[in-house]
Amino acid sequence: MEYRQLGRTKEKVSVIGMGCWGLGLSADRGEWAREIASLRRGIELGMNLIDTAERYSSGRSEELVGEAVKDCREDVFIATKVAPPNLTHDAVIRACKDSIRRLGVSYVDLYQIHWPDPGVPIKETMSAMEKLVQAGLVRYIGVSNFSVSESDDARTALSKNEIASNQVEYALSNRSVEADILPYCVREKITLMAYSPLAHGKISRSIPADILQKYDMTPAQAMLNWVTRNEQVVAIPKAGNINHQEENASSIALRFSAADYEKM
Ligand code: NAP
Repeated sequence: MEYRQLGRTKEKVSVIGMGCWGLGLSADRGEWAREIASLRRGIELGMNLIDTAERYSSGRSEELVGEAVKDCREDVFIATKVAPPNLTHDAVIRACKDSIRRLGVSYVDLYQIHWPDPGVPIKETMSAMEKLVQAGLVRYIGVSNFSVSESDDARTALSKNEIASNQVEYALSNRSVEADILPYCVREKITLMAYSPLAHGKISRSIPADILQKYDMTPAQAMLNWVTRNEQVVAIPKAGNINHQEENASSIALRFSAADYEKM
């Protein structure tokens, strides 16, 4: 596994992390056990970045992550998110404590604002985020689905901390962030965390066969290799299936040439 620095911090996170949307969505406990096993396999393979949210499966995703990491908490980097309507000061503090309880940990590594909420001043949300950092409940602050101007406002609203990451949709089939958000993240040293990097499971059929053959990769692996070609990007594919998790973990075992990235 390859690791990259998170924003301007000294933290190293795996270039391929594990997204946890949909974990615990089914009522089938056997399915939960398979999802936990998949996360644990990913951790074994060096994927230390785990992304969840209070919203995912009404909190059950966080509970399953907690179960997966209970004997290796210090080896992983847990990112979770607070969403509207919980962006007022007191609601952020409460939501974070609830996430920590569901995760069964004493702190989260990265606490992200899931979406901007124009109805709540960003200064109010960020003042609560900074209190959480001060209290040791959160290590780093991130945002998600923030435009460049919203990112600027978020940074200005912080007095002691910096925005470490912006989590946005980025895949071979959706390159809109390349217009402005990616160049901004590169310039400002903010990690771009690529969500839905496998296009929600709609694996590309248009990757040239000669590229797949040359690097001995599956189309899904090529998509992850491509999306993380920039040093400022890490990706968080979701894999409830252990074979998918293994495939994703080895997707960056080698890097494609610039010409092949271009060809893709
Ligand atoms: P995704 O990662 O693009 O795709 C997930 C789908 O791809 C699942 O159906 C999975 O199946 C399948 N898959 C995984 N590895 C595969 C492989 N090697 N070969 C073939 N299929 C494979 O979609 P996503 O879940 O939307 O996005 C990933 C994560 O990003 C989420 O889990 C979440 O953490 C985050 N996210 C954040 C936001 C936001 O607003 N911040 C929005 C969406 C997503 P199996 O599960 O069966 O393995």
